[in-house]
Amino acid sequence: MDMEKIVNYCKNYGFIFPGSDIYGGLANTWDYGPLGVELKNNIKKVWWKRFVQESENSFGIDAGILMNPIVWQASGHVDSFTDPLIDCKECKARHRADHLIEGFTDEVIPDTMTDEEMVKYINDNKIPCPNCGKSNYTDIREFNLMFETSRGVVKDATSKVYLRPETAQGEFVNFLNVQRTMRAKIPFGIGQIGKAFRNEITPGNFIFRTIEFEQMEHQWFCKEGTDSDFYKTFKEKAWKFLLDLGIDENSIRFHDHDKLSHYAKEACDIEYNFPFGFSELWGTHNRTNYDLGRHQEYSKKSMEYLDPETNEKYVPYVVESSVGCDRLTLAILCNAYKEEQLENDTREVLKIHPYLAPYKVVVLPLVKKYHSDKAKEIYQKLSKHFMTSYDDSGSIGKRYRRADAIGTVFAVTIDDNTLNNNTVTIRDRDTMQQITLDIDEIINYVEERIKL
Ligand code: ATP
Repeated sequence: MDMEKIVNYCKNYGFIFPGSDIYGGLANTWDYGPLGVELKNNIKKVWWKRFVQESENSFGIDAGILMNPIVWQASGHVDSFTDPLIDCKECKARHRADHLIEGFTDEVIPDTMTDEEMVKYINDNKIPCPNCGKSNYTDIREFNLMFETSRGVVKDATSKVYLRPETAQGEFVNFLNVQRTMRAKIPFGIGQIGKAFRNEITPGNFIFRTIEFEQMEHQWFCKEGTDSDFYKTFKEKAWKFLLDLGIDENSIRFHDHDKLSHYAKEACDIEYNFPFGFSELWGTHNRTNYDLGRHQEYSKKSMEYLDPETNEKYVPYVVESSVGCDRLTLAILCNAYKEEQLENDTREVLKIHPYLAPYKVVVLPLVKKYHSDKAKEIYQKLSKHFMTSYDDSGSIGKRYRRADAIGTVFAVTIDDNTLNNNTVTIRDRDTMQQITLDIDEIINYVEERIKL
C-alpha cells in the first residue's frame, strides 16, 4: 500500500479533497467529502460511545477553540510548545532537527538530546538535507507551534488570542464546573472532540500531520496512588478499541516514551504502521496533578477536590488518552483498503468495520424501467434508519464493484421477485454471498450486523 494510492483513492471516490482546490489549494489543508465526512462522523460517534457513553462516570463537553490566553501560559504552551527548527543554508528548506536524526539513524533518540547535542550530531554525521542532499545547516531555533490571532477592532498586545493547539485544556478549565454540576465523584472522566491548530514546521503525509485537525481526548481525574493503574487501564482500552475497529494487530505497537515531559510520570504512544512507517497514532499519558496545579496557581481558584467519604482534600491526578481523529481515519483507510484477486477478476474493496462504513446499504433496481418505483420506495424506507445510497446506472456487476470500492456493507437488489413476493436479495460486501429476505426483514438484518 503506498500513500499516493490512498490519496488518489480518497480524492476519486469522494472521501478527501485537497483544500481550496479550485484556487490551486492551500498546502496541507484537506476537505472531507461526502464519504469522508460520514466515515469521520462514525469514528467520532464510536469513540464517544466508548469513552463517554459507556464509560462509567464520564461526561462530555464542547469547549471553545478560543480561550483566555492565560490558559496557555498556565499550560506551558506559551513557553515551551516548540519544535526544534533547523534550516538548510543551501536550499532554505526547513526541517525538524529531531526528524532529520530519526530519518538517519536508530542509534540515538532525539527525544533524549538537547538542541546543542542534536546540532552536533547532524553536523558530525553530515546528515543530508532531504530536499537538496547537501549538509549545511543553521543552528536550531525553538519554534512555537501556536497560531496567534487577535480579537476586537484594535490590534494590541491585549487583543492577542490563540487558536487552541489541543482540546485538553478545555477539560481542565471545566473540571470544577463538571464536578459540581454532575455531582461527580473522583475518579471521573471528561471527554471532548474538537478542532486543534498547530503551525507545524513540516506538515505532510496527507492527513497524518496537518495544521488544522481534530482531536478526541479523554481526561481521567483520579487520586494520587491510583494513577498508575488507571494509566495501564487506558493504555489497554485504546489498544482494544483499535482492535474492535478492525485494525490489524500486526500493524500497531506500543512505544513507551524514553524522555518524559517534566510533569509526566508515564507516557506511551500506540504507533500504526502507516505507508511511511510506524508513527504515532494515540497517546496515553499520566500527567500527575501538574495541569490542575498550574491552573490553580494561575487562576487563583482552588482546584482541590474534597473527598466526601474521608474529608481529604487534594488536587487530582490526570490520565490522558488522546487520539487524532484524522490520523485514526487515515489508519482505518490504510487498514481497510484492499485490491482482491477474484477468480476471473480483481476488485477494489474497502473492508471497513460495518459501523464505520459511510453507506450501510445500496439499493439497486435490477432493470431501471421495471424496478425503479419499488426500489425508490425501499430506499426511502431504509434511509430513515441508516445511510443508504441508490444506484441504477450500469450493469449489476459494475454497481456491486462501485459499492465494494467505497465499503458499502450490503447491496439490496430489487427484481421481479420483489414486485411479486415482496422479497429482495441482499449481498454481503466481504463474502459476496447473497441471501433472500422479506422487505420487512431488511432493517433488522442490517442493524444487527452493523453494531459495534
Ligand atoms: P507528533 O509527535 O506526531 O507531533 P504529538 O505527540 O505532538 O504528535 P499530541 O500532542 O500527543 O501529539 O496530540 C495527540 C494526538 O493528536 C496525536 O497522537 C495525533 O493523533 C494527533 N495530532 C497531533 N498533531 C497532529 C497534527 N499536526 N495533525 C494531525 N493530527 C495530529
